[in-house]
Amino acid sequence: MSDPHLNLINGAWVPGDHLSENRNPSDLADLIGLYAAGTAGDVTAAAGAAAAAQPGWFAAGPQARADLLDRIATRIEAEATDIATMLAREEGKILPEALAEARRAAQIFRFFAGEALRMSGEALASVRPGVDIEVTREPVGVVGLITPWNFPAAIPAWKIAPALAYGNAVVLKPAELVPGTAHMLARIIHEAGCPAGVFNLVMGPGSVVGRAMVEAPQIGAISFTGSVPTGRAIARAAAERMKKVQLEMGGKNPMVVLDDADLPTAVAACLNGAFFSTGQRCTASSRLIVQAGIHDAFVAELTRQMIALRVGPALAPDSQIGPAVSAQQLAGNLSYVDLARAEGCEVVGGERLDLPTEGHFQRPALFLNARNDMRVAREEIFGPCAAVIRVADFDEALAVANDSDFGLSAGICTTSLRHAREFRRQARAGMVMVNLPTAGVDYHVPFGGTKGSSLGPREQGRHAAEFYTTVKTSYSFAG
Ligand code: NAD
Repeated sequence: MSDPHLNLINGAWVPGDHLSENRNPSDLADLIGLYAAGTAGDVTAAAGAAAAAQPGWFAAGPQARADLLDRIATRIEAEATDIATMLAREEGKILPEALAEARRAAQIFRFFAGEALRMSGEALASVRPGVDIEVTREPVGVVGLITPWNFPAAIPAWKIAPALAYGNAVVLKPAELVPGTAHMLARIIHEAGCPAGVFNLVMGPGSVVGRAMVEAPQIGAISFTGSVPTGRAIARAAAERMKKVQLEMGGKNPMVVLDDADLPTAVAACLNGAFFSTGQRCTASSRLIVQAGIHDAFVAELTRQMIALRVGPALAPDSQIGPAVSAQQLAGNLSYVDLARAEGCEVVGGERLDLPTEGHFQRPALFLNARNDMRVAREEIFGPCAAVIRVADFDEALAVANDSDFGLSAGICTTSLRHAREFRRQARAGMVMVNLPTAGVDYHVPFGGTKGSSLGPREQGRHAAEFYTTVKTSYSFAG
């Protein structure tokens, strides 16, 4: 095992107050490394360094910012296989998915390299003669980025890249379960020539490091992705301090399958949406809302394909579904399998699997004959489990789809243009998919949800500027 991995504060690698083990959920005997757990003092130091470095970073101009982001993208591409291997090893995502995610991180940095040059404003005539008005965008200052474990490369990338592109300085706190990928990204950003203090990494527990970030006076805005309870706590604490927040949280995403759907398309979309990445996606399809006429044929084919999915270690070439990320996550998934039975569902799959390596493996599960008022249809499980709800017609499907505390992604499989159009208009979700899985998005367009899924401006694409900049209106009179 290599030397301990340290935090990056003001351009230097510094220890925290203790080291934390990073273990492979596909093979608990595999100790990936030891990672520094930072303190509130480390956050103070990082936020102070960021505040000192930020004005110079913005003043360096868009070309310098674009060039840095471009170099980071190139380095991520060059190291994509190593990043993907780390990601698969610490998070449990199968290698092809991990590789796609590493490459996505590079694409995001490349996209925002261009956006740095396109930071623009407006010029308007005033209602007062002789007065000109300019509306410009400026960086927020120092932004705190708090990320979850399920996309250890892509989510940090889609927060860091716009933050730096628009001239902010950054303090990143990755999830405790996946410090390895974040540390690799931090090293790449550092080696690509990021000025000291402009990007800082402080690993460690959310209750210590995350909390200190929300409290740090130098940090003007917090972008968070994670669970609803944590998001709520952050929003509360940020409101006390008048900080800007952007929260991306959970989902209970519906996928409607109408009688007129193309069956292979619908089964493929649901198999992918519900089970790929072990169901550990905020956009996973966890409620399959199926019209009565296609229900039995759909369930039979989806079950056949689900049972055939090969569950195994993330790095094994033939694995299609990796492990749950942690013992706690697996225990939660298994408890929902029990709950589904207790609530009256017929459960297919879902059992714990013992494989040659000790890991958190589980067969994907379908909860048949579910109702939308059951807890298994209302609470986010975040595992490879989907509830199947039978409905009579389109109107009932739409009503069930919208009857949720969440509103991140919503899908429909249909060959009817009328139903597709109606669903796109009436689904109460930030993202709508027609004949596509609810998960799987592009990086150059807005990402985010409604209701309990998101708070604040959208992430990704040009819309990222809403969060990472503030607007200034200047009036000039030439005299
Ligand atoms: P989590 O809320 O447990 O943790 C997220 C991050 O918050 C971690 O870095 C954690 O250390 C930190 N944190 C914990 N307590 C904190 C506190 N008091 N103050 C500040 N920071 C704190 O979430 P998780 O288990 O890592 O991720 C799974 C959740 O993320 C799921 O609910 C999933 O739906 C959600 N998610 C949402 C999106 C989205 O874009 N909507 C994307 C991915 C994941």
